[in-house]
Amino acid sequence: MMKKLPLLFLLVAALLPVLPTPEFWITLANYIGLYSIVALGLVLLTGVAGLTSFGQAAFVGIGAYATAYLTTAFGMSPWMGLLVGLLLTLAAAFFIGAITMRLSGHFLPLGTIAWGLSLFFLFGNLEFLGKYDGLNGIPPISLFGYTLASGRQMYYVIGVVLVLAMIAVQNLLNSRPGRAIRALKGGGVMAEAMGVNTAWMKIVAFVLAALLACISGWLYAHLQRAVNPTPFGLNAGIEYLFMAVVGGAGYVWGAILGSTLLTLMKDQLQSWLPKLLGANGNFEVIVFGMLMVLLLQRARDGIWPYIRRRFPAQPNAVAPATAPALPMRAKHTPGEVVLKVDRARKEFGGLVAVNDMEFDVRAGEIMGLIGPNGAGKSTMFNLVTGVLPVTRGEILFRSHGELRRIVGFSSRDIVKLGIARTFQHVRLMPHMTVLENVAIGAHLRGTHGDLAGIATSILRTNRAEEQALLFEAKKQLERVGLGHLLYEEAGSLALGQQRILEIARALCCDPTLLLLDEPAAGLRYKEKQALADLLRKLKAEGMSVLLVEHDMDFVMNLTDRLVVMEFGTRIAQGLPSEVQQNPAVLEAYLGGID
Ligand code: ADP
Ligand code: MG
Repeated sequence: MMKKLPLLFLLVAALLPVLPTPEFWITLANYIGLYSIVALGLVLLTGVAGLTSFGQAAFVGIGAYATAYLTTAFGMSPWMGLLVGLLLTLAAAFFIGAITMRLSGHFLPLGTIAWGLSLFFLFGNLEFLGKYDGLNGIPPISLFGYTLASGRQMYYVIGVVLVLAMIAVQNLLNSRPGRAIRALKGGGVMAEAMGVNTAWMKIVAFVLAALLACISGWLYAHLQRAVNPTPFGLNAGIEYLFMAVVGGAGYVWGAILGSTLLTLMKDQLQSWLPKLLGANGNFEVIVFGMLMVLLLQRARDGIWPYIRRRFPAQPNAVAPATAPALPMRAKHTPGEVVLKVDRARKEFGGLVAVNDMEFDVRAGEIMGLIGPNGAGKSTMFNLVTGVLPVTRGEILFRSHGELRRIVGFSSRDIVKLGIARTFQHVRLMPHMTVLENVAIGAHLRGTHGDLAGIATSILRTNRAEEQALLFEAKKQLERVGLGHLLYEEAGSLALGQQRILEIARALCCDPTLLLLDEPAAGLRYKEKQALADLLRKLKAEGMSVLLVEHDMDFVMNLTDRLVVMEFGTRIAQGLPSEVQQNPAVLEAYLGGID
């Protein structure tokens, strides 16, 4: 029954205009549709990518004014108006996005308010756009010779556009670029470490959201047949954001729900509140404000999650039983130096976290990096993987048969060369499934280019690649022993399992050097043994591993060589048996824990 509910909903929605539905309802439904299309963009931008925008109404305005101007001033067809509107939006969003998407924290929403206001005043002050009076006499859309002049006719156009937009957003989210956009919310370090160009992905999300807003504006202009600046101001921008957040900004259906609820509420409140209070004014805004505060306290994810719980949970991405294997990088020759750290130094202000460290890792060995808490091990990892720049010194990595400098490389470039890592403090997307999280690791192994990847994802012509990537993720999860948890939410796993998940994700990068930061922390004895077996197997296959770990039994039994750090400085290096006997190490480190 629950499964059929959306279909029933769709059927009723499709029949609405042919039933004796009052005109007023049709108008209301049309507006809900128009708002939903904008809110869908905000699902992508705010709910999924975590980028808050108060300025979407301005893009609705660009869509509306472009077609209004071209059709009234030059008698062009509305379709031409749509095309020009989309191109204008593309250019404007790309430009504005490139500037504002770089802002972080509360500066980003402030930035969106700034350009939202600017565009509003631009519409209101341009002579040829009719200033604050706007433009009138916009012709209706015609399609295959039919003129769609009535609200009932436009209802179908809006409905079809809305359904297509929902499908497009859903398709995108369940694909490689979609996973990259979803990974943005994790703060960027993890996504970049998996090879995602986060700056570009933010702009993509921003441009797509703007294009949806523009389409809504185009429909609005031809429904209303007149435009003026009021509906494209900051107030409207705030309302769009309200709709997405109230409904559930993380969900496609949340956009529809939020738009419906707020539009219906606004309509009711606008007729009741003035009567109740005996005065005229936009009192509904006060109610919305209170609602928003309540929601932020009680249900940050909006209302949709409460409804979704009543439906059977279905994973978005399902791994195929089999798929063609992805191409793999050539392994290094056993014994040759893969990573060379040459007097690498990192200072944080006056603190020397890594003090002229020197060591190397050879192909097919497990190298241990140990030392007390705060010794600088994780900072060393961050230097090697390009998360932090070195203060000075050299780091070299073997790629294409040669040791090459990698200092100054971004973490995205470094993972491309074949260094993959896990994080001491796990960085995963708790609401994505285990499988989807691990598939983020396979990001660089997708073959479609950036733009082609987005287009093929939206059109769902990327199935072969998707299947190959998901199959790879599944394979790596089975390899690390998490094959039975593919469709669990990653956040529901025990912390130890989340660490293992990160290993599977790193393996998806097809690395030749694996950097593991305390992978055994939180594991039970049996799980530690399984992890040791896995690392031995990887080593046998020619993988080089640099391992930070506190469990001495685990380290001593597993590693080929060890390098010991204290206060950022290397205090010993050698075979585990040698290091164990080293007085400096016993004094500084082993003595320290006992
Ligand atoms: P370990 O991983 O060996 O426990 P870390 O590399 O995390 O040690 O930290 C080494 C030292 O550097 C610590 O004193 C820590 O407080 C400091 N540190 C690490 N990261 C930063 C940072 N981003 N800014 C300032 N200090 C840092
Ligand atoms: Mg650490």
